[in-house]
Amino acid sequence: MSAHQLIITQRAELLTVLCGGGSAEPLECVLDLLLAWEVLVWEDYLNVRVAEKPLCSNIRQLLDVVHDKGEDACSHFLAAINQVLPEEQKAGLCFGKGCAAVGKNTPDTATLMLLVDRPVLVTKLRDNIDGALDVLLTTGCFTIQDCDGVQLPVYTPSQQVRRLLDQVKFKGETAAKTLLQYLEQAEPTKPKSEDKENHLSADCLLYQKKLRSSVAAQSLFLRTYGGAGRFSLDDIYTDGLLEVVDGSGETTTLGLEDVVGPIGTLNEDADTILLSGEAGSGKSTLLQRLHLLWAREALLTNTFLLFPFSCRKLNAEHRELSLKELLFLHCCWPDRSQDEVFQFILDHPHMVLFTFDGLDEFKQGFRDEERHCCPTKPVPIPVLLFNLLQGTLMKGILKVVTSRPQAVGPSLKHYLRKEVHLKGFSPSGINSFVKKHHSDPAMARRVIDSLQVNTVLLGLCHIPVFCWIVTKCHQELLGGQDGIPQTITDVYLLVLQHFFQRKSSLSQGALGKAWLEEHLDTVLKLGQLALEGLEASCYVFSGYELQRNGLTEQDVSMGFLIFCNDLSVTDCKHYEFLHITLQCFFAALYVVLNRNNNRPAISRFFQPQHRQLSGLSQRCLGHCIDPSVEEEESHVAETPNLQITAQFVSGLLSQRHHSLLLDCCPTAVRERKFKQVVKSLSKGMQTHFKSIPRPVEGEKKSMHAMPSFVWLIKCIYEIQDKSIAQDAVAKLEVEHLKLTYCNIGPMECTALAYVLKHLRNPVGLQLDNNSVGDVGVEQLLPCLHICHSLYLRNNNISDEGIRKLLEKGAKCESFQKIALFNNKLTDACTQHFACLLKTKQNFLALRLGNNNITSQGAEQLAEGLSYNQSLQFLGLWGNTIGDRGAEALANALKNSTTLIWLSLVDNGVGNAGACALAKLISQSKTLVELWLNKNCISRDGVECLIEALKMNTSVKEIWLRGNNLSPEEEEELSKQESRLTF
Ligand code: ADP
Repeated sequence: MSAHQLIITQRAELLTVLCGGGSAEPLECVLDLLLAWEVLVWEDYLNVRVAEKPLCSNIRQLLDVVHDKGEDACSHFLAAINQVLPEEQKAGLCFGKGCAAVGKNTPDTATLMLLVDRPVLVTKLRDNIDGALDVLLTTGCFTIQDCDGVQLPVYTPSQQVRRLLDQVKFKGETAAKTLLQYLEQAEPTKPKSEDKENHLSADCLLYQKKLRSSVAAQSLFLRTYGGAGRFSLDDIYTDGLLEVVDGSGETTTLGLEDVVGPIGTLNEDADTILLSGEAGSGKSTLLQRLHLLWAREALLTNTFLLFPFSCRKLNAEHRELSLKELLFLHCCWPDRSQDEVFQFILDHPHMVLFTFDGLDEFKQGFRDEERHCCPTKPVPIPVLLFNLLQGTLMKGILKVVTSRPQAVGPSLKHYLRKEVHLKGFSPSGINSFVKKHHSDPAMARRVIDSLQVNTVLLGLCHIPVFCWIVTKCHQELLGGQDGIPQTITDVYLLVLQHFFQRKSSLSQGALGKAWLEEHLDTVLKLGQLALEGLEASCYVFSGYELQRNGLTEQDVSMGFLIFCNDLSVTDCKHYEFLHITLQCFFAALYVVLNRNNNRPAISRFFQPQHRQLSGLSQRCLGHCIDPSVEEEESHVAETPNLQITAQFVSGLLSQRHHSLLLDCCPTAVRERKFKQVVKSLSKGMQTHFKSIPRPVEGEKKSMHAMPSFVWLIKCIYEIQDKSIAQDAVAKLEVEHLKLTYCNIGPMECTALAYVLKHLRNPVGLQLDNNSVGDVGVEQLLPCLHICHSLYLRNNNISDEGIRKLLEKGAKCESFQKIALFNNKLTDACTQHFACLLKTKQNFLALRLGNNNITSQGAEQLAEGLSYNQSLQFLGLWGNTIGDRGAEALANALKNSTTLIWLSLVDNGVGNAGACALAKLISQSKTLVELWLNKNCISRDGVECLIEALKMNTSVKEIWLRGNNLSPEEEEELSKQESRLTF
């Protein structure tokens, strides 16, 4: 097979190996070689190495470029990959016959010399960057900004060398000569880190050591595992799913090391990286892992000093502080030479990293008003924090900030370098977490098996905090007297029971049936503390506050509150709830169980108009619904907690927990509160429906859900009452329901299906750009009969999810369209589509773009298509079906009397494929558009298409941009046939 064909047929595999691990290094090494061998010219290189684009797009671009350059370039490309990749990654790849030796002429300029020697120079200069920069700076070839740009801490040493070489090329021949001279004279030098450290004073090094040791001590253990079940972070840490979305909307998966790296950068001039995720998705734990790895010098090795902050603790700081005081008082005190250490920080911003955990828990919402840029002048903490995030203060220091997504408003977004989304555990992550948690493999197996049979619970476990509870409470779970948990309220009741059980088994044995009533006093006291805390954005409590709420040592010893020992602001003891969601749960218990009439009525928690009532509590759950409040950035921080609390309130008042609450709360009171919740939810839904605009003529009536729509649906799900779900959507009359970018995971899918299955008429359900995954797909099945179209673009769905979806879909009469662009589909799913196409003769649209479908998959699909007489739209953009696949599809579609639109863009289709498609064109009476951009069709193929068009009147356009044609050929061929677009 020619190298050209090898690249086409192995495109998916090449993409995978070059993307492997998310590191750009293999790609960059291949680029070094291709530049040195003169396969790529400089412009090609710049087009391929675009920092703002995800790695996989850059690799695709390179594949396209070498493909377009022809056989010789392809064989050099394969040779470069062969040279760069380690043996184990090359298994299964074919590199062809190899390439002819590159017959280079001796380079006649210094610039060319640097290019030819680039692969060697990257290694040689790696330990020598400082020296080279010094020379370039002193000779005037480089400015300070050039040097800073090269040495950005986000780059690895090899990347820094490449930036240096790129910059030298940009500066011209004199800079290139200077660098060559330096290289000739330079002795092999000491490793860079030593070199850098030589410039550091002993006191700075001492400070670094102290900081590392204090950060390590704070991050060694996970806080939720206090007491006997103490786990070190190393033992339990499980990687979560991390993603960034780039400027063009493409999603890339990241590794931990990429959080502060360049991938996904949207704004080069901003220094703040947002790590966003739902409550319990593992943000604090991820940050803790970063801290620990930095302290051990295992990650962020270019970061000399890392300062970790917790926003909930900053809330407790009421003094005005300067930046210097903030660093030294809150993180680590320099025992010597304070001024020198601080000066070092000011002089080397690129060697320092700040992290701020829980911005959503900071009392004040982000404000962009007061400017402050003096590092030594004391100001209130919010001013200090906001100016750091904006970059007014200490520009150049990278900051990683965690928050729930709802709490980040537009004015902060303005200052974000990039946003990394933490999506919780993958299905394999859940298994791995359970195995780490249970040292007994048999027990781990039992827990995993019980999750596999209860997919609702499995869906919940994607959120690590729920996974932690489910794993921790495995005994109660596997005992299963009260049925398997279905809702988050069930899960939190389980944890409540577990903690009380643990205490009582130490004293009198098992818990009685009336366990909640027995512990009602403790629950109410904790509940009041929790609610007052939420109302005042307070998550850390002093011993005095506990006392004031009547909490005794025994109450505290139940384990719901933990001691926070690293609050260095004051000397007295402080406590916090195990997790913010537990604080919300206690607040909800208080709302439901308290008999104090002075407390706000339940409806106030759900209704926006009560905001104007006096008192903190009136600010409560009103935020959750009122859109005008959602926009108000200074309050957005509270909304997520209040929404979670409302969800728990709904769940606790559900009929299912009636017997548990029976003796804790008079039935009449409970029922009154329940009615209020139901009424409020119904009102909330109505507000949404009223906001649906009238359809534009010719368009479908469509509802773009507001952020709180999903929350309302989740509250309804917690109640687990079919008639309430039915009533909620009884009046919803839309044809299209859009829920894109709504952080919908498996848990949200369960709730959506529970409610939407009661819709009266079929809708198009658009869930693009969420994290539905295979488990979420399974959760959606109960509402599939009510979906005429399902849009699941970019949702991490694999073949297994599709198998289950289509099995059900085949039986749903209304189900007619599916869009699965950019998921993880392979040839293993095409047989299921074939089956669907055979059985469903009313199926209209199938879009499978940007997956991993090859010629084999296309052949299977063709098998189904040959029996289908309904499909109108077929999209396979960005797969690798090649000529064989195109031939199979064309053949199968020849007799279609319905096909209107076909896209085989970017699929490695050549002349053979084009000629097969020509036969389809000559027979088709329905096809209107054919998309063949970015393939490898040349003149012969296009001539076949032109011939076929002579017999066809239905086709309006054939798109052929980016094929193997010269501009002259394109011009000539488009003159022959105006329906071709080049
Ligand atoms: P968030 O900050 O997003 O609210 P946390 O990081 O506090 O979430 O996570 C809540 C709990 O979930 C942790 O205390 C821990 O028990 C568990 N957890 C979260 N992430 C991980 C992880 N990556 N590995 C193991 N356990 C985790």
